[in-house]
Amino acid sequence: HADSAMYRAKEQGRNNFQFFAPWMDSQVSNRLEMLINLRRALDQDEFKLYYQPKLSLQDGRLIGAEALIRWESPQQGMVPPDRFIPFAEEAGLIVPIGEWVLRTACRQNQAWQQAGLPPIPVAVNLSPRQLNQSLPDFVAGVLAQSGLAASWLELEITENVVMKDAEKSVATLHALKRLGLQISVDDFGTGYSSLSYLRRFPVDALKIDKSFVRDIVRDADSAAIVKAIISLAHILNLRVIAEGVEDEEQHAFLKENACDEVQGYYFGKPMEVAVFTAWMSEQAQAGQVLSCK
Ligand code: C2E
Ligand code: MG
Ligand code: MG
Ligand code: MG
Repeated sequence: HADSAMYRAKEQGRNNFQFFAPWMDSQVSNRLEMLINLRRALDQDEFKLYYQPKLSLQDGRLIGAEALIRWESPQQGMVPPDRFIPFAEEAGLIVPIGEWVLRTACRQNQAWQQAGLPPIPVAVNLSPRQLNQSLPDFVAGVLAQSGLAASWLELEITENVVMKDAEKSVATLHALKRLGLQISVDDFGTGYSSLSYLRRFPVDALKIDKSFVRDIVRDADSAAIVKAIISLAHILNLRVIAEGVEDEEQHAFLKENACDEVQGYYFGKPMEVAVFTAWMSEQAQAGQVLSCK
């Protein structure tokens, strides 16, 4: 009955507070509270983007960054994305939140370049709902407004994003690629196991999910899967990046097996803008930034 109440609440529109009625169970009122809080978060600018470095495995140089959203809630403190993105997706709020993320990441990247830092691509995560026909026009508008060249924007999509409606997704991805940006498949290996789309979809890179990376040293199956994904990527002419790298043993394994890029706490945690900017400046001064896209 909770779901049908939620449905009715959605049907009756935005600011309808009559739903805090005595008949409502606590699950429903929690969800409505979350919905109202997330809406307020958007209006009041409570979201922040953190940036995590991606490094080239060959020489350890900075080769890009991933933008990761955080919610600084006045009530709950720092809320990680896994605790509110699924809800935002369900409630339809992911579209405006995702637009904020794209605008903010592109503006920030352009600001870094204007400050004289060597250009790097910044990756933004996309939810399934965002990948619709209007996305390419929206992205083109954001790029134009920010002044950022498309080659410094990367979009990370999961396998599930594209498999939801494969035909439409192919068309949308091609339209996005025509803008000149990069597309990578996030959490690779955890979603649908169909590999045929890898040939049909215009993607540039695969990101090996951190659950495989976590176990590569202890678990032979994970090691084999990681090796297979690296081979698959290279056969298909794709870059391959390992996420969630936490120690030297994992780093050594990935290097030995010719993975292209790494991302993880071992090299750098997601950092707030000021910290990332200072860190990137140091890297740039030491010649440790690779601007090659
Ligand atoms: P993801 O895109 O796969 O991002 C990688 C996650 O792994 C991030 O978690 C990052 O902080 C974490 N991570 C990085 N290095 C390590 C490591 O060495 N060890 C471990 N254990 N974790 C590591 P985070 O920031 O909590 O984000 C979680 C997920 O939330 C992301 O997974 C992504 O799916 C989603 N997300 C984050 N930002 C956005 C956004 O702006 N829009 C959308 N739609 N989703 C987002
Ligand atoms: Mg990602
Ligand atoms: Mg991932
Ligand atoms: Mg993930």
